Amino acid sequence: MTKNIYFSLLLSAVATVSFAEETRQVDKHEHGVGELNIAIDKNIIDFEFMLPGADIVGFEYEAKSEEDLALVSNALEKFEDYKNVFIIPAVGQCNIASQEVLINQEDEHDEHNEHDEHNEHDEHDEHDEHDEETHNEFYAKYSFECDSINLINKVEFPYFVTFPNSGELEVQFISELGSTSFEVEADKPVINIEGKI
Ligand SMILES: [Zn+2]
Repeated sequence: MTKNIYFSLLLSAVATVSFAEETRQVDKHEHGVGELNIAIDKNIIDFEFMLPGADIVGFEYEAKSEEDLALVSNALEKFEDYKNVFIIPAVGQCNIASQEVLINQEDEHDEHNEHDEHNEHDEHDEHDEHDEETHNEFYAKYSFECDSINLINKVEFPYFVTFPNSGELEVQFISELGSTSFEVEADKPVINIEGKI
């Protein structure tokens, strides 16, 4: 029953659910560190966020109480409008082409039969106290088509205000000119990408 509520919550918030990222091990993340990949290909710019649940809602166990479910639902709604997360300068004339938002929840033990790489199971002995060790991530991907992509000189991140539990964002930026990485924090929530597109 709880599970049904959880999943219908997810489904109501996403247009396209893709579990391609499911193989990513969400317990490998570092709390306080979100990851963002920005990729530019011709007139397309993609933003892909992988954010520890701790950074977004302050916990990573599966939401069950009404209060926790509301926090998750509220967070997913925030992601639905990318402007709560990042801002591209208007001069780039970018229009959102697609987006998806979901939670990658660490698998429950009884679901592990689906997995091919059984090697992972060796690690699971440690997981006896798994209430403390459950991890999840918010995953959000946004794709834009831009008329003047070369004029984008920065990206700002209201992310830190929208999600006060957040720490830093590690940004990997890639275009045909090469790749750059940035560490972004709340005190200077912007990256300068002038000349990098
Ligand atoms: Zn975690």
